[in-house]
Amino acid sequence: MSKNTLIIGAGGVGNVVAFKCAMNKDTFGNITLASRTLSKCDSIAKNIKDKIGISIDIASVDADDTNEVVKLIQTTKADIVINVALPYQDLTIMDACIATKVDYLDTANYEHPDTAKFEYKEQWAKDGTFKEAGIMGLLGSGFDPGATNMFCAYAQKHYFDEIHTIDILDCNAGDHGYPFATNFNPEINLREVSAKGRYWENGEWIETEPMEIMQVWDYPEVGPKDSYLLYHEEMESLVKHIKGLKRIRFFMTFGQSYLTHMKCLENVGMLGIKEVEHKGMKIVPIEFLSTLLPDPASLGPRTKGKTNIGIVAEGLKDGKKRKIYIYQVKDHEECYAEVMSQGVSYTTGVPAMIGAKLILDGIWSGKGVFNMEQLDPNPFMELMNTQGLPWKIKEMEA
Ligand code: NDP
Repeated sequence: MSKNTLIIGAGGVGNVVAFKCAMNKDTFGNITLASRTLSKCDSIAKNIKDKIGISIDIASVDADDTNEVVKLIQTTKADIVINVALPYQDLTIMDACIATKVDYLDTANYEHPDTAKFEYKEQWAKDGTFKEAGIMGLLGSGFDPGATNMFCAYAQKHYFDEIHTIDILDCNAGDHGYPFATNFNPEINLREVSAKGRYWENGEWIETEPMEIMQVWDYPEVGPKDSYLLYHEEMESLVKHIKGLKRIRFFMTFGQSYLTHMKCLENVGMLGIKEVEHKGMKIVPIEFLSTLLPDPASLGPRTKGKTNIGIVAEGLKDGKKRKIYIYQVKDHEECYAEVMSQGVSYTTGVPAMIGAKLILDGIWSGKGVFNMEQLDPNPFMELMNTQGLPWKIKEMEA
């Protein structure tokens, strides 16, 4: 029987998910793309029709309102909801899935608009109600989180008896030609990178000042780049699920120009998340900044260069030390040629489609709320190779 797929969020990532689901129509059946702004859905639907000749439906929805999402799930008869709106909508969309007994998937963990802190607590708390509803919730099926969790699970399954340390290494060496722009939603991106850093060692979280720890990493096909320690959400679930883990850290590359702009914006208060009064109007500085900055979806045709995201794991196999590097390199222009998006949206949207495909095809199943590494990594890793994100493994000197 033909399936129905509902995608919520018509931003940079939503564009890629809609394209890739349409390219895999055998699995996804009737596809509806819904967002607050119908014109954004319309322009994506037109691009898909023009480029690959497939029609998708569109709808408008305010996903902050659970009832609106419930109604949309009912009218589209969705078998799965792929949430690529903002992290603020995770809980309302999950509640709508519970009410309608429909599987759920997202790419970023819940964050309250008034607190720049993201954690899985509230989504994990829905495990019981997902089980009672007999549905599956897949959390963090983007690249990081997402593919990086799969790389860790794959390493654990095939390469190690125990993994002692993991470094997640995220490099975007793309150049969009703007003095300052973010590659995904500006508000979410700036909240993440201006926050204090954190890593996990010997059972404890250790906090650092923002950008306090830097290492230079030589990224294959990209070259050496300054990489800064950040807190990133996949670490919260990986510390629970990777056997023998003693330390996990996350590093992301930033150029000097990006850091200088960010520091300056922070110093003048433009990254503030609390309301301020301006000429009798209430505004949130970071929201206003987000309006001024280029829309990430508009970076597609301008961005050149590559992304390289991977993990380095060290541990023991058959009593011997081992160290491996699993990574994926993607070219921004290649992404644009395929789906009219830059590489950051592409590397997020493809894993979202793959996670949803594995659920709809019945290859991944389960009742409750899951992080990626709790599922078998093999089918996901195979689909990465055939759906545009081929990866490599390198043995390193332990
Ligand atoms: P964009 O800002 O480009 O797009 C977000 C979309 O969500 C917008 O089109 C917006 O709608 C829509 N939206 C926001 N609020 C609502 C609402 N209340 N109801 C309905 N739609 C809404 O962001 P991106 O596409 O760059 O990012 C999408 C998600 O992907 C984010 O959660 C981000 O954190 C995540 N992400 C995950 C990554 C990973 O590797 N795991 C990496 C990068 C991003 P409209 O414009 O119609 O108002």
